[in-house]
Amino acid sequence: MIETTPEDRRHLKTRTKLVHAGRHPSDQHGFVNTPVYRGSTVLFPTVEAFSKRTARFTYATQGTPTTAALETAWTELSGAAGTVLAPSGLAAITLALFAAVKAGDHILVTDAVYRPSRIFCDTVLRRMGVETTYYDPALGAAIESLIRPNTSVIFVETPGSQTFEVQDVPAIAELARAKKLCLILDNTWATPLLFPPHTRGADMAVEAGTKYLGGHSDLLIGLVSANADWFPRLRATFDAFSMCAGPEDVFLSLRGLRTLELRLKEAERQALDLARWLAARKEVAQVLHPAFPSCPGHIYWKRDFLGSSGLFSVLLQPCSPAALAAMLDGLKLFGMGFSWGGFESLVIPFDCRSYRSVTEWDPPGPALRFSVGLEDIEDLKADLDAGFARLRSTA
Ligand SMILES: *Cc1c(COP(=O)(O)O)cnc(C)c1O
Repeated sequence: MIETTPEDRRHLKTRTKLVHAGRHPSDQHGFVNTPVYRGSTVLFPTVEAFSKRTARFTYATQGTPTTAALETAWTELSGAAGTVLAPSGLAAITLALFAAVKAGDHILVTDAVYRPSRIFCDTVLRRMGVETTYYDPALGAAIESLIRPNTSVIFVETPGSQTFEVQDVPAIAELARAKKLCLILDNTWATPLLFPPHTRGADMAVEAGTKYLGGHSDLLIGLVSANADWFPRLRATFDAFSMCAGPEDVFLSLRGLRTLELRLKEAERQALDLARWLAARKEVAQVLHPAFPSCPGHIYWKRDFLGSSGLFSVLLQPCSPAALAAMLDGLKLFGMGFSWGGFESLVIPFDCRSYRSVTEWDPPGPALRFSVGLEDIEDLKADLDAGFARLRSTA
């Protein structure tokens, strides 16, 4: 058997890439997977090697064979020039922003952004002299009116990971290119399999690998891929911070990568089934799933995405807090907790009224976000059906 080269893999289908990218059995005594390289020190054989630093690996903060395997695979999968790894999805977002801004800059961030990203902009970036303007995620090219002479970044998250507005990325990308702004995309919901970030115009794309890449709720990792214009700056910023992902989490991410497409396809199938079932319930006022016409920006999802994943929200008809608690507290299969993309189903109530700043969030009743796992869908429906019965019988 001959190992595939990056050039070979460029011509392979995604599923085959997922199996082969980032594996070098010949460097690992024939073992199929790259093991966890633990370490700090890397030894140099001679003074010359030490002073020239020409070795592939020189110190573990800069990378190991394990991190290099995941970086390479993600770069190929994303159609990027390069990738760096961070210890969490949020760390990946802060790294991408730090790579792109300087004191005195102004940045544009979607109002539907993941809330901890907003907190970073409003605290750390503000202290560093970077001002943030939030924009309505429904704006495409009309974002132009918000651009100032010192604007440097447009930050996109599509769909928003609670409220699911899908953005017109190609229109925003065209504007960013014309105005020489850096377009950063939080692509966690879609992954590169459902939204190839760089061919859609992102300069840097962030993935919280904690979600679907890991897939088992047992790790934290973030990935930032960048195109050729931005990778040198991203890599230099990564090196300056030395904010490394844990070796075990990198190994588990490589393992998750091999089955990513299978798990995503099943998440898509299960979530569409459950969302359809929820849409028909009288307790549900609106389904916010990008594949449904009831979701804001559905037309952009239809035009630009290659599928949907397993995370979506619903807006319930008005009910009391006690009725909602009766529904959720008694669920046996849906856990309540942050994060998503694991094998197990989750549900959380959410209310973004207190932190949205430029768009109104005024649902008829409580909002619930579902992450649909790999359980039998009929068991999941029965758990929710019993929950809705508790909701209806509680005042
Ligand atoms: C979870 C999440 C993150 C952050 O990932 P962590 O690994 O939990 O820090 C970033 N963006 C989105 C859209 C997320 O859902």
